[in-house]
Amino acid sequence: MNVSRDLDVRNAYARDASGLELIPDAVARPTTIEEAVDLVRSAVADRTPITAAGAQTSTTAASIVDRGVLLSMAAMAKTLDVDPVSLVARVQPGVTVGALNAQLAEMGLRFAPDPTSEHDATIGGAIACNASGARSLRYGPTRAHVRSVHLINGSGQLVHLRRPQLEKNTVGFFAAQDPVDWIVGSEGTLGVIVEAELSLVPLPAHELGLALPFTGEHEALAFVAAARERGDAAPVQRPQCLEFFDESALAIARDAVGGSWMQSAKALVYLEQAFEADEETDAVLDRWLSLGEQFGVDAADIAVYADAAALRDARRFRHAVPAHMNERGSARRPHGGRKVSTDWAVPYRRLADALDSARRLADVHGVEQAVTYGHAGNGHPHQNFIANDADELRQINGVVDETIAMVLGMGGTVAAEHGLGKLKRHWLRVQLSPAQLDVMQAIKNALDPLGLFAPGNVL
Ligand SMILES: Cc1cc2nc3c(=O)[nH]c(=O)nc-3n(C[C@H](O)[C@H](O)[C@H](O)COP(=O)(O)OP(=O)(O)OC[C@H]3O[C@@H](n4cnc5c(N)ncnc54)[C@H](O)[C@@H]3O)c2cc1C
Repeated sequence: MNVSRDLDVRNAYARDASGLELIPDAVARPTTIEEAVDLVRSAVADRTPITAAGAQTSTTAASIVDRGVLLSMAAMAKTLDVDPVSLVARVQPGVTVGALNAQLAEMGLRFAPDPTSEHDATIGGAIACNASGARSLRYGPTRAHVRSVHLINGSGQLVHLRRPQLEKNTVGFFAAQDPVDWIVGSEGTLGVIVEAELSLVPLPAHELGLALPFTGEHEALAFVAAARERGDAAPVQRPQCLEFFDESALAIARDAVGGSWMQSAKALVYLEQAFEADEETDAVLDRWLSLGEQFGVDAADIAVYADAAALRDARRFRHAVPAHMNERGSARRPHGGRKVSTDWAVPYRRLADALDSARRLADVHGVEQAVTYGHAGNGHPHQNFIANDADELRQINGVVDETIAMVLGMGGTVAAEHGLGKLKRHWLRVQLSPAQLDVMQAIKNALDPLGLFAPGNVL
């Protein structure tokens, strides 16, 4: 396999969704595990840094680098094996989440994590970032769905890390018991994933989507907390997703739907419920209508999405919001501005308070309010600000810093699904204790003793 130092090739891998540009010294595109191992071994021998990349949809500059080799895994994109009985798929790292799910759907199966970027994002990237999506409310993020990984470590060895199938285990500290957990979310810093075994779930027999309009943000978020608690009390009733739209996000979704859809609403919650028997449809609807009514929803105004095509439409209006904001942000780049997006989360019951405080901080600094939407059921909104120029960018970044400090004070996290990469790594030391940082560094030293993988990410 050749390693290219051609400037055009290097430029082609110099950007991800962060908006930054970092040009690697070389680019390699292995098509087999053997090629990837050879490449890592020669890089280790030369002490050359190696940064793996998938589809480069990282929003935090995790998949670009200005040192060493950029190792694009996108060409290793085969589904190797699907076992519909034990619900396991064996895949190469470059297969996209969307392509895998299209294949699995024909067999009545699904890889549950559903990042909004699923049609581009690769399984390697999803594992490395512990990606999640709307359905993670029911199924959890990627971590829970990874059974094993084949990894090339920093000594150039190919190792197979498999989750222990034990129900009881008292050997060793918990942090050391399952090395698969070290790899999930490690953002390329511990090695190169060259194959993975994933757990699958059966496609539910029925899925129902509901869009509920609210007279205010607080009513919508109180509904979300109540819906979440009902689902926790009776887990079969936990919705797959509980997505929130503030008034400005709703306006963008309305444009995508067309007409005067949800015209008088000040906030919207979109939820999906899975169930097994056709005759449950009315019961599922009734349950959500009666809960909605307790928070001021008029049942006549609820939109129902009852089949696969309708559910796809519903996802389209959900995805229209980040797509629209990305376009607005891109249009400001020539003027020194861009979209600034947060990825913080708080315990879900604290979301309304956190959003109130976040809005107050924007007001205090005279910054236009963010368009806010996202995974409210997990306490995880996305605030999208638009900086029109470099001055506004500085102001917004200041507001975001203060917001994150507030969020951490509420027991929250700076990054709930996009990772730290290079852009947010300064928050690591704020969010974690020195002892936690030492554990991370010890794992890094054990797997990548020369410190060659993904320089600048996370640590
Ligand atoms: C429009 C948009 C929407 C998004 N929505 C979501 C969302 O809903 N949920 C979410 O979680 N994220 C989301 N993201 C962020 C991003 O798509 C995810 O983090 C995704 O999992 C990254 O996959 P990728 O293949 O693009 O990885 P890349 O961006 O190429 O890489 C990301 C990280 O993974 C590492 N990596 C990639 N492949 C390997 C490998 N084979 N071995 C070791 N390390 C590897 C890289 O080194 C890097 O650190 C979104 C991004 C965009 C642009």
